[in-house]
Amino acid sequence: MNHRDSILDWAIIGGGIHGAYLANALIRHRLTRRSDLRIIDPNDEPLAEWKRVTANVGMEYLRSPKVHHLDFESFSLKHYAHCREYSDDAFIFPNDRPSLSLFNEHADSVIERSGLHDLYLKGFAADIRLENDHAVIRTESDTIRARHVVLAIGRSGSLNWPGWAGRATADGAGICHVLEGSYCRNSIPETGEIVVVGGGMSAVQTALSIADNNRHVTLLSPHSLRQNNYDSDPGWMGPKYLNRFRKISCFRKRRRIINEARNSGTITQDLKRELIKSQNRKECSVTIDHVENCSVLTNDLMLLNLKSGETLAANHIVLATGYANRCPGGELLNGLISNFNLKCSECGFPITDTSLRWHDRLYVSGALAELEVGPASGNIIGARMAAEKILINRANNNF
Ligand SMILES: Cc1cc2nc3c(=O)[nH]c(=O)nc-3n(C[C@H](O)[C@H](O)[C@H](O)COP(=O)(O)OP(=O)(O)OC[C@H]3O[C@@H](n4cnc5c(N)ncnc54)[C@H](O)[C@@H]3O)c2cc1C
Repeated sequence: MNHRDSILDWAIIGGGIHGAYLANALIRHRLTRRSDLRIIDPNDEPLAEWKRVTANVGMEYLRSPKVHHLDFESFSLKHYAHCREYSDDAFIFPNDRPSLSLFNEHADSVIERSGLHDLYLKGFAADIRLENDHAVIRTESDTIRARHVVLAIGRSGSLNWPGWAGRATADGAGICHVLEGSYCRNSIPETGEIVVVGGGMSAVQTALSIADNNRHVTLLSPHSLRQNNYDSDPGWMGPKYLNRFRKISCFRKRRRIINEARNSGTITQDLKRELIKSQNRKECSVTIDHVENCSVLTNDLMLLNLKSGETLAANHIVLATGYANRCPGGELLNGLISNFNLKCSECGFPITDTSLRWHDRLYVSGALAELEVGPASGNIIGARMAAEKILINRANNNF
């Protein structure tokens, strides 16, 4: 069926981990036919954003365990590694976390097997209109109609650029953000002093991926490096904490609980070990402080003035400051909220029903589903949790 001539059953906006998982689940559970489903994403292939950011930071092993992946059976990834005779170092202690290359190969094999490439429409959804019996999605070159739309857009459009960094960039400072599409490790000066700003997994991975004999890296963290092997307590992936969370009707309180439950700015023990080794080799050092402002001295020399009164010279600055603490989605989401009066919490995130339905025609997954799915919503396991909720609702409606 040509998507231009007809109304699809489902259109998923975003072909990342969440969009791909949900598409596969809808087909597998026979809630739709392949011909009735499309994934809309501006990249050339599924998981492009995931592959880009994890490569940018130089991630070698995932933080999540081997049972979190794109397939349905928990041990699918382990089985895949066994069949392909991956060596023992494909998993790392603690929690048997898979290497990025194993995770990606397995994910590619799931996508290949389920033929998701054929359902992929390249485009950026700039506008969505919600009508009586379907939604109309406009990209730069296409108009797509679907009875159900899922927003699985991740956080990629909302990087956290501290104010001082924005101002210094306008003055010509050499500053980049490790999660942005244009980040390129090769364009960082090969010698000199590089400052990586941030104190979480991405910051430490980035520092380790840049530091070498000729390039000294100072990791400038706002807090001392704290160790935790999880993004959030595993109790947030099941009833242990979620049952109580879902009984809370105040969304401001839910937001507070989510923020507290996230182990932001923490690193795993293996990464801490690697950082210490790099410090011992004198390739890396750690400074705990906050940037007040940054002056541009010459083309390739900047001076960071720190809250403590100290200064730090840098030939290049890499921000590993993560995503902004606001609801992602930009203009697309703002338009939807104001045109269709969609409910949001004070923090700006969607208030949906328990099946992640924001409107009769519209569902959310990933970061946008946080207030319903909880602190693990944006993680890989969050894709499974969101799909279960969306699928249960649709299955009940279909049968
Ligand atoms: C460096 C890093 C490491 C991480 N490691 C782990 C880990 O080990 N374990 C774990 O569980 N989680 C991890 N995460 C968190 C999370 O799993 C990933 O961020 C994951 O990519 C989220 O998947 P997603 O599908 O929600 O978003 P994304 O992967 O960002 O995919 C969203 C897609 O939507 C597209 N899109 C956005 N807007 C539009 C639009 N208007 N129209 C069309 N398409 C649009 C984007 O281009 C993108 O392709 C990590 C995150 C980062 C940044």
